Amino acid sequence: MSTVDADVEVPDVPVPANNDLELTEAREGHVGTITVRRMLPLRTRRSVGAWCFIDHYGPMDVDGMAGMNVPPHPHIGLQTVTWLLTGNVLHRDSLGSEQLIRPGQLNLMTSGRGIAHAEESPTEHDRVLHGVQLWVALPDASRRAEPAFEHHADLPTEGLGGFEISVLMGELAGASSPATAFSPIVGAQLSAGTRAASAMVPLRPDYEHVIFVATGAAEVDGVRMHPGQLLYLPTGRHESAVAAPADSTLLLLGGVPLGEKLLMWWNFVARTPDEIEAATAAWRAGEFGPVGGYRGDPLPAPPLDAARLRMPL
Ligand code: MN
Repeated sequence: MSTVDADVEVPDVPVPANNDLELTEAREGHVGTITVRRMLPLRTRRSVGAWCFIDHYGPMDVDGMAGMNVPPHPHIGLQTVTWLLTGNVLHRDSLGSEQLIRPGQLNLMTSGRGIAHAEESPTEHDRVLHGVQLWVALPDASRRAEPAFEHHADLPTEGLGGFEISVLMGELAGASSPATAFSPIVGAQLSAGTRAASAMVPLRPDYEHVIFVATGAAEVDGVRMHPGQLLYLPTGRHESAVAAPADSTLLLLGGVPLGEKLLMWWNFVARTPDEIEAATAAWRAGEFGPVGGYRGDPLPAPPLDAARLRMPL
């Protein structure tokens, strides 16, 4: 482990020597009026550990605008992880939860067999919105669990080579998150402060990982990165060399490869087309329950494409 006090000198060598790493570019997605960088799932990779969905949005100026407005919609078979770098978002769900979230805090919603929620910028909101929306697939044994919502205002942090590491889920560098997980998993934010940071970040070799830059830039195991790129690190690695200039922020996600074939459609994570069709019918019939306090209509389910649903992924 080492600390670099000067700005990181990044050699302009984009091709890593160890070519088992994969660097992919995000595609543009839309969530309501917000444009997102969608990094997972990939056509060739449906999940990393149990992480099965990564959206990164902002920073964007939402001053005088509605900001985020995602009307009530259902989930099954997953946990949603809401994490902000800047701004504030209000969560409401069909359990009656109502929770404002700010940077450094974690909203973790376990859909289990079914839940509905809405996320929106509060009426009086901060000027800048910047965050990530992540999904964790529930393993088969847990995916019909009772729905639940957790808010963690104080997550453990650890210093490492000039990075401040906040652990959202699992354990990293000696810090352990209190958030409920259903599979061996890690999720952490690495923030360089007012100076560049450089560290050998310890990894569990039975985990696969991805890293992406939310703010600034980074060099990870010799690979230069900027926001909108996802670097995949396969299992078998004990550490990763991570360096970043001042004011940069990275997210590290990983876990034991899930080993289950996920069927994802709209906001559902399932295993069979029948489950998707049943969840869609239940949403249309109002069986997920109302999201109290949200002003406006819920999101309609898009038309089911039964033929496509039954195609092998
Ligand atoms: Mn959602």
